[in-house]
Amino acid sequence: MTEKAKGAVQTVARSRAVELSPEEFRRLGKDLVDRLADIQAGIRERPVTVYKTPADIGALLPEAALPEQGTNPESLLAALPDLLFDHSLLNGHPHFYGYVTSSATPIGALADLLAASVNANVGGWQLSPIASEIEKQTVDWLRQMLGMPDGSRGIFVSGGNMANMVGFMAGVRAKMPRTIRTQGLASLDEKWLVYASPETHTWIQKAADLFGHGTDCVRAIPVDEELRADPVALAAMLREDRDRGDRPFLLIGTAGTVSTGAVDPLDDMATLAKEHDLWFHVDGAYGGFAAMLPEQRERFRGLDRADSIAVDPHKWLYAPIEAGCTIVRDPAILPATFAYRPPYYHFDAEGEETNFFEYSLQNTRGFRALKVWLAIQQAGRAGYEELLRGDIALARELFDQMNARPDFEAFTHGLSIATFRYVPEGLALAGEEREAYLNDLNESVLEAVKKSGELFVSNAVLRGAFVLRACIVNFRTTTDDVHAVPDLIARHGKLLHENRIHTRERGD
Ligand SMILES: *Cc1c(COP(=O)(O)O)cnc(C)c1O
Repeated sequence: MTEKAKGAVQTVARSRAVELSPEEFRRLGKDLVDRLADIQAGIRERPVTVYKTPADIGALLPEAALPEQGTNPESLLAALPDLLFDHSLLNGHPHFYGYVTSSATPIGALADLLAASVNANVGGWQLSPIASEIEKQTVDWLRQMLGMPDGSRGIFVSGGNMANMVGFMAGVRAKMPRTIRTQGLASLDEKWLVYASPETHTWIQKAADLFGHGTDCVRAIPVDEELRADPVALAAMLREDRDRGDRPFLLIGTAGTVSTGAVDPLDDMATLAKEHDLWFHVDGAYGGFAAMLPEQRERFRGLDRADSIAVDPHKWLYAPIEAGCTIVRDPAILPATFAYRPPYYHFDAEGEETNFFEYSLQNTRGFRALKVWLAIQQAGRAGYEELLRGDIALARELFDQMNARPDFEAFTHGLSIATFRYVPEGLALAGEEREAYLNDLNESVLEAVKKSGELFVSNAVLRGAFVLRACIVNFRTTTDDVHAVPDLIARHGKLLHENRIHTRERGD
């Protein structure tokens, strides 16, 4: 029996170790927001990134031993904004053009503060009534941007990889035998195949590997000159594989490839998917939202025929990381794929409440939709169209600039990605020797440019050529910024090339 049963009433002294009084919260929060506003105002003056070793950065942290006693929160927070902004890659800098990583909406930062304060668990409707409804509405606004049919459903996830994996699993559930739910893939005799171009992001290997299919199940669709999946070759592959007795079940199209922004021929692929009873999943993590632009409609034709689409609001809707989203045409497929109902959730499962834990792998879920919901209202469709159109126009401008210069070769322009390489004037090499030299030189240029902190680009490898790649998903970048890029890069290129020539002449 407990002490209480003997009649002694105990008072437990609660620690205030993690509490902030309302006054402290107000003061610390205001100071923090003030400092962040100053930093944002001066972001252009900062280097885009730091070039330090993990040991250098590690040395900035407190001592390694777990802190034994607490520290006053005021002193913890005071120096933190500068520590973080002085030692981070600033993707909100107007000269950041790397990967597919966007500048972040300021309203998104405030939304995350709000979301953390409400601390909604958007796994169950009863745990998050308004957050669940906001997430539903946000997903539906994304659906409208993509032109998916009314009645499609979806869910926010951490990013593009997860959004694609949810689509993959929905395809498995819809098209493969139900027996694998209990008996696993080992119980199947036939080979079940997935079709995707080699330009597909590596999420596809992760998914095929981790879900037990094995990466050999992914068949590579040949690509055309512009690195888009070739539907004629795909049709032939599907026929051959079927004739051999294999079972095609999943077709992946990409709407905006990572390397060059290529958009697969979605309409042709949708037709083939229908003909062969395949699940048609479109990876629109980067490019999907460009489908809202009237001038891009033709390029994205067929997107609305997808069974599932993955998009990344933390890319081209500029949401602070993390925010990905999967949208599916058949509203029943996500619960059919993911729902197991534990006895401790006494939810109204058959009613009108949407319980998001039944829509993906996660159980407890954060309120990711809020930052997207707010930014969509701040900008409106018109605001977003203007921003995306501007990013695309800037990438075009950069491509044209590179094309016009004697010391660059422009390679591709697709959506908001331009690729190019530095080519020293008067380079007296030809054929393979020239290619090898330029690959090596441009790798060095990339490193030098990053190290300078002046701007940040990343790279792609296009048919063996190492090229520099600028992806503009940055609402702070201006035409003047883009016009400064060729000279900034050429300065490093020229220096590195001259160093190489001197080294050769000296014979070392
Ligand atoms: C970025 C990207 C992914 C991966 O998304 P994350 O948000 O990084 O997980 C997948 N596919 C494409 C086309 C992408 O651009």
